This record gives sequence, C-alpha cells and structure tokens, in this order.
Amino acid sequence: MSDNLYSQFITRFPTDRSRVFLIEQDGTELSFAGLIDRVGRYATVLADQGVVKGDRVAAQIDKSSDVIALYLACLQLGAIHLPLNTAYTGDEIAYFLGDAAPRVFVCQPAHLATATEIAGRCKVDAVLTLGTRHDGSLNDLAAKAAARKDIVDVSRDDIAAILYTSGTTGRSKGAMLTHGNLASNALTLHQAWGFKPGDVLLHALPLFHTHGLFVAVNIMLVNGGTVVLLSKFDADDIIARMPTATVMMGVPTFYTRLLAHPGFTREVAANMRLFVSGSAPLLAETHDQFFDRTGHKILERYGMTETCMNTSNPLDGERRPGAVGPTLPGIEARVCDKDGNILPAGEIGVLEVRGPNVFKGYWQMPEKTASEFRTDGFFITGDLATIGEDGYITIVGRDKDLIISGGFNVYPKEVEEIIGDYDEVEEVAVFGLPHPDFGEAVAAVIVPAKGSTPDVEAIIKRTQDKLAKFKVPKRIWTLKELPRNTMGKVQKAELRKNYANTFSS
Ligand code: AMP
Repeated sequence: MSDNLYSQFITRFPTDRSRVFLIEQDGTELSFAGLIDRVGRYATVLADQGVVKGDRVAAQIDKSSDVIALYLACLQLGAIHLPLNTAYTGDEIAYFLGDAAPRVFVCQPAHLATATEIAGRCKVDAVLTLGTRHDGSLNDLAAKAAARKDIVDVSRDDIAAILYTSGTTGRSKGAMLTHGNLASNALTLHQAWGFKPGDVLLHALPLFHTHGLFVAVNIMLVNGGTVVLLSKFDADDIIARMPTATVMMGVPTFYTRLLAHPGFTREVAANMRLFVSGSAPLLAETHDQFFDRTGHKILERYGMTETCMNTSNPLDGERRPGAVGPTLPGIEARVCDKDGNILPAGEIGVLEVRGPNVFKGYWQMPEKTASEFRTDGFFITGDLATIGEDGYITIVGRDKDLIISGGFNVYPKEVEEIIGDYDEVEEVAVFGLPHPDFGEAVAAVIVPAKGSTPDVEAIIKRTQDKLAKFKVPKRIWTLKELPRNTMGKVQKAELRKNYANTFSS
C-alpha cells in the first residue's frame, strides 16, 4: 500500500461508499463517494493551477466540509496542506505567504480583493476562493472539472502539512508534519479510543488546528464513521444534537460551558460513549463536576502541533483527573532538566518525547529545529511535567509560564487547582509579574461563578492555609472572562503585559 495518507484513508473507507461520512450543520449529508468525487475534482483544479508534489497550498477559509476536501486534495497530489487560523490579520497572512511561498492561496470569497493584493506582494500567483455554502471560484472550477483518480506516490517522510504554531514569543514557526506522522497518530488514537463504524462524532473545533483536523477528522476518516460538522461550539446546539451522537472532542471550555448550562443533564449525555478533552489543561474540578452531572469521566489527552498526540488517559482503566495519562503506544516520554539529564519519577522538569508522531522540523528553520531536539531524537516540548512511577504524566504548565518568586519555583497549575475549587470562582489563571523584591510575584485573575461577587482579599487569605507563602497570590483581579485563543488556551503573555507595572513601575 502507498504511504500516502489519503490512500491509507481510502483503503479503510466502507465498501458501501454510499454510507454517510459527514453531516453538515444544515443536515446536508456527504457520502464517502461524494467526498472522493469532490476531492478528485479539487485535485484537478489545483493541478491546473500548477500544483505538484511538494508545493504548498495555503488556505484561510471558514469551516465547512470543503475544507476537509481541500486538505485531502492536497494529499492526493502529494502537495502540502497549509491551513491558517481564520483570525489572522492581513499582516500575519503576508508573513505566512512570504515564509511558506505557496503555489496557491485559497481565501474566503469576501476577502478576495485584499487576499489578491497580499498574494501579489508575496509572489503567490494563484488565488482561489472557497465559501461555506459550496461557493467560491474553487467550487465553480471543480463543477466543470473531471475528478482525478490517481494518488501521487509519496514516502512516509514526505511532508503532508505545515501548521504554524501559535507563537506567543517571536514569529510563528511552521511545523512540518509528514504522511507517516499523521498516519501513525490517527491509527494509534483510533485504536486507543475504541472507535467503531457506528460512532457519530460531534465536531465543533476549528479545522486549522491539530485537534480538529488531525485528531478528530483523521480518526473519523480511518473509522469510516460519521462526523457532525458544526461551524462553532454553541451549547444549545450541542445539547440538541448530543442524543444522536456517541463521541465529542473538545477543549476544556466546551465542558465548563456545558456544565454552566441548566439544560445539560445526564439524559442528554446518555447516548454518548466518550468525551475527550485536550489542547489546554482540564481542571480536576471540571472533571469531577462532569462526572457528577453525567456519569461520564472525561478522557484527557495531551499533544501539541509539533507532535500530534503524545499521551492519553486510558479508555479502559483509570482516567485520572488532572493527569494526561501514560504515553500512547509507540511513543516514549521522559522528564529532564535543562541540560537533558533525566530526572527521577515524580520530579518536575521539561517533558521530552520521541516517536513516529514527532514532526520533521520547522519549515526553513534548521537551527531552531536542531536546538529543540536532543541528539538521540527526543523533542523538547517546553512543557513542564512529572511522570509518576505508574507512568501517568501530569502537565504543570509551559516552561515560559513558570513563576520564580524569591528564587522559588511556583507552578501556576498548583495555585489554579486550589483557587478553581472555590465555589465563588468559575475560572482562574495564575501568572507571574515583575516584582522589585522577589523578582517575580504570583498574581491571578478570576472569573466569578454565576451570581457571586467574590471578595478577592478573602480568597488570598484562604489560599494561605494551603500554600507556602511564596506561592500565595499577591494580587487577584476579577474579569468577566479570561483572554483565550480559539483553542481555549489562556493567553498568559497578555495577562503579564496588561498588569506588568503592578508591583514595579
Ligand atoms: P498547540 O500546539 O496549539 O496544540 O498547543 C500545544 C500546547 O497545549 C502543549 O504544549 C501544552 O502546553 C498545551 N496542552 C495541550 N493539551 C494539554 C493538556 N491536556 N493539558 C495541559 N496542557 C495541554
């Protein structure tokens, strides 16, 4: 069998190709036969624009089944899919187009004029459009095109996609993911999470990020099951559709929003077999509340753009609140100090991973790539973690979010777990601020629970019983909501910036 990921998907499609692969928001169904036809037509259109093996095809388009077809068309041609966050501004797009030099840029129909101008500046010859109602020039051309049948031969090591990391410091880096990376992770997760042909997946994640595309969609392409594709997360809509579904993958905010909804009951979740969480830490408290409400234990997993998924709590076995489980089969992990010395079980250090899931490197950044890999092939994730004697891994935060106060390390997660447990607190984020005496001081922002007006001074006092003095927040502010990116990750750099002069000026 070919190593092309698309071939690997197709060989697993159901023999009856009239079966439903995907249901759109408005109820329109797309069969496997329909999907293959659309992919083949897109491949023809792209090839007519000059796209050949190894070329990049960049796309900044709103979520629809066409996004998945475009991704697969790139694979079919051996080209490199390059999805871009729909929130990126013109300046950011110019950077990505300049850096990746794609053959084609696909944009939303409404953005054609600006996109053409930016593409021209970046020497990208072809701009196509794709709307959410099967409109746009790519669809117009596809309607007249013959569906291409052959799938270009590639090796496991050839690049299937480039995903730019969110890059909170410095420029975003393009993570090169190979056909082999994506295939191995899709097959591993498909098996680890016990997918069966009858599964129906509620899909409310974006399609430009590893979670929504390479975890959710790839698993369902391997599974030959049904994806319910929703344009965004809307609690009412999810609750209405849940009785017809079996699996949901989400970021932690999906779960806190469901719990905040009075209509989310045990009965609503009765048909579900699996809730998966990832992309940001799930508080143990959310895990417990979800179990009390529904009888389901959310399965938390951990991964990143560069590595796809590394660890998962087990389908059968203990799903430990606050932990991300052991490594997935075929993947190794270790916790090291800054120099790469392996630390004993239970000690906090930087997590390093190795396996067929780990990316090939950063696009056109050989030095950056080399500095993030050890000589024995382990990738330095930049996440601080512990590995227990039993192999369960706990992520305690990003390396760069570590707070050093008076020379002592403070792991934000420890403080967040304590404050997040208080009834009057809905959400919390802990971060460090420059301080003239301590170097850094611990600070926090909280979002009050519905109907409560927390006394922040009282909260600070209460944490003193549980935490060493250097870990106790010196200031807490109340916010209506935490600054999060589209994947639900709290933007701690933004918090640090907003409150930078609190203790020093
Ligand atoms: P991204 O590359 O956007 O997918 O972000 C990856 C980062 O998200 C990781 O390096 C972690 O810092 C964080 N992350 C992902 N999953 C989890 C999780 N289950 N718990 C804590 N952090 C997570």
